[in-house]
Amino acid sequence: MALEAVATSIARPGLKALNIVTSPYGAWFGKWLARGGASVTTLAAEPARPITIEAVEQALDAAPGIAALALVHAESASGICNPLEEIAALARSRGIVTIVDAVASIGGHPLDVDALGLDIAVIGPQKSLGGPAGLSALSISHNAWKLVSEENSPRDSILSLLDQKAWIESGRGALPGTTAPLEFFALEAALDRIEEEGLASVLERHARASRATRAGLTALGARLWATDDTTSRLVTTVEAPPATTPSEIIAIATDLGCDLTSGVGPGAERLLRFNHTGNRARFETVMAGVTAYGLALHRLRLPADIGAAAEAIAAAYAG
Ligand SMILES: *Cc1c(COP(=O)(O)O)cnc(C)c1O
Repeated sequence: MALEAVATSIARPGLKALNIVTSPYGAWFGKWLARGGASVTTLAAEPARPITIEAVEQALDAAPGIAALALVHAESASGICNPLEEIAALARSRGIVTIVDAVASIGGHPLDVDALGLDIAVIGPQKSLGGPAGLSALSISHNAWKLVSEENSPRDSILSLLDQKAWIESGRGALPGTTAPLEFFALEAALDRIEEEGLASVLERHARASRATRAGLTALGARLWATDDTTSRLVTTVEAPPATTPSEIIAIATDLGCDLTSGVGPGAERLLRFNHTGNRARFETVMAGVTAYGLALHRLRLPADIGAAAEAIAAAYAG
């Protein structure tokens, strides 16, 4: 909802936006901008791959007058992470407002909104933070407020940022509508858990789960989809071996009680996702997922060194 509210509130005829697409989420954001009359340049990465800073630079050079740039930080759909730091620096150097979908990445990847100079960052509690799915939140800079047009932006709407601004400026009193209290209790519980563990530890737990999964899969004999520096720390992906289908592998893993899923969106159809997001970012999930994958390959009469994979995961958790 926060993502759609941002797009709806800044979109207007005459606004030029560069929309980076690395999953269905980015594609939806572009449609919402276009619905509001904005002129949207779509920059799609290779299917299920991260965008490159060179491609962003070229796209900005080719379309003068871009005032806003939108992208997803880390993808849970395909297991990639976009080069946010470089893109943010480039946008800042050209005075372009940045909009970042950090719904999945918050808690899994470091996200220093102020240091990166991100104008709008949208987050949700339901991924790496291990919280409820019914809420979303955003931060917005003074520069980004200038893009929210008084004439075109909706009012008296769940998608209105101006309504939120009015609420903040009038002293944060009664909300314009009744909120769902259970969602807020669940959010509070999730944030209490984060506070108790410490955000640094939550981040390290994701980094380690990612490292361990990658080391395990490599030792197993699998080829990783993303490189070390462009991998999402939320899910790890591999391509299903040529003679197999993702669904037969997933069926075997599911039988074993493991949460293996297929990729989401164009180009990700043959990807298998090892989910280590939020409460799943821990040793037993990683070990179970990778060894279950190895077992599935054995059942399909394909080689997989489960022993070496287990050793590699254990080593990643030893230090
Ligand atoms: C999960 C996710 C969202 C939000 O989707 P929900 O279906 O509401 O959970 C938005 N953007 C990204 C990149 C996500 O991974």
